[in-house]
Amino acid sequence: MIDFSLSDRIKQQNTQLQMIAEGLMRPVSREMDEKEHEKPWDFINATWQFTSMQTARMLRKLDKQQADDPAGKNDKTPGEYYMGLMYMIEMLSWGDAGIYLCLPMAALAGSAIEAVGTPAQKKRFLTRFAEGEPKWGAMAITESHAGSDTSAIRTTARLDPETSEWVLNGEKIFVTSGLMAAEKSDGILVVWATVDPSAGRRGIKSFVVEANTPGMKVTKLEHKLGIRASDTAAIVFEDCRIPFDNILGNPEVKDTSKTKGFKGVMKTFDASRPLVAASAIGIGRAALEFTKEKLKENGITIRYNAPRHQLTALERDVMDMESQLKAAWLLTLRAAWMLDQKLPNPLESSMAKVKAGKAVTLITQQAVEILGPLGYSREFLAEKWMRDAKINDLFEGTGQINTLIIARRILGYNRTQLK
Ligand SMILES: Cc1cc2nc3c(=O)[nH]c(=O)nc-3n(C[C@H](O)[C@H](O)[C@H](O)COP(=O)(O)OP(=O)(O)OC[C@H]3O[C@@H](n4cnc5c(N)ncnc54)[C@H](O)[C@@H]3O)c2cc1C
Repeated sequence: MIDFSLSDRIKQQNTQLQMIAEGLMRPVSREMDEKEHEKPWDFINATWQFTSMQTARMLRKLDKQQADDPAGKNDKTPGEYYMGLMYMIEMLSWGDAGIYLCLPMAALAGSAIEAVGTPAQKKRFLTRFAEGEPKWGAMAITESHAGSDTSAIRTTARLDPETSEWVLNGEKIFVTSGLMAAEKSDGILVVWATVDPSAGRRGIKSFVVEANTPGMKVTKLEHKLGIRASDTAAIVFEDCRIPFDNILGNPEVKDTSKTKGFKGVMKTFDASRPLVAASAIGIGRAALEFTKEKLKENGITIRYNAPRHQLTALERDVMDMESQLKAAWLLTLRAAWMLDQKLPNPLESSMAKVKAGKAVTLITQQAVEILGPLGYSREFLAEKWMRDAKINDLFEGTGQINTLIIARRILGYNRTQLK
């Protein structure tokens, strides 16, 4: 039976995170937005302690699992890792979504490793996120000609038979935390590349490239509409050599018709899309709460018990914002709960992502509209939340692409039948 009740650990975590969001994020929200790409170190140091403890806990669990089941084949133990992560991301994005994306931890790279890596790879790559100085992880999929259609990736990974190393060549764009992961910490990048360009999507695998590997270079930082504290980088790979074991999951690539290839890497999105949805919901809640607070200051309260025909247009707007947010949150919790139960959730994770991306875009626009000049002014954060919101409808698959995925799954069509 589906159950969203929270453990004492998650409840305690939420209280601590609320203090971080209120005390370390909100006070520097505007400044970090204006200074673009500068890092909020108080927040980074405080959350590093928090996230590294969480990673250490996950690794201890992994050790136990590995002892019982070395190949990881019977890993069906339900957990609460993703539920905890959703609450964490929602709360930190309520604090500030751009600053949350500066979080020094594996995040998207971690979910890729979690989804596709072997137990030994999870341990090897994630250990660094449990100790020492803050470190970043990033996931590099997008290329100039491969955005929504990730199967069009041209970055190559060639196996050098003499050294048994993978040699990466290509260019990735729009990599969130790319600079921090590639050059400014002992971080990692998960890079999607093809081992056989003639095999199309079946040839695509994901690889871990460790920070400062020769041949990997950050070539550009984007200037953006929203989430401006977070860096978004273009990264070039030129004869970038990585160890054979850095290919995630099954290393069998000779006969691509037999490997899980693309299917394997696509599993990454099942875990990462709910994370984006949770971030969207945090921004939406911030905008909604602020709007209601300002309305209250002006003597306007929402009459939830009034008959529908007596409601003002404004009351209907606020109720609509609230119901959109609630629906998105429930879909997100369902997708996370399924991950924790080890249930396949590609449909549910796309549903959560579409709903949350659209809901937060509408809610933040509506907040600016209701607040009028207060919404448009830089004195308050409503205009920033509107700018920060839109990315959630874009990255990790746009709203259109996720809607397409949902339609295909519900109607039973494949990629060629429904484009
Ligand atoms: C701030 C930021 C951070 C990012 N971070 C990362 C990251 O960390 N790692 C990473 O790999 N990528 C990242 N991206 C890239 C992001 O995932 C892509 O921009 C996104 O997937 C869309 O790809 P595209 O830009 O090439 O758009 P396109 O694929 O060119 O699409 C353009 C438009 O056409 C629509 N469209 C395309 N195909 C269809 C279709 N079949 N049916 C209907 N509509 C369609 C799309 O929905 C979109 O509206 C980031 C992007 C931004 C802006």
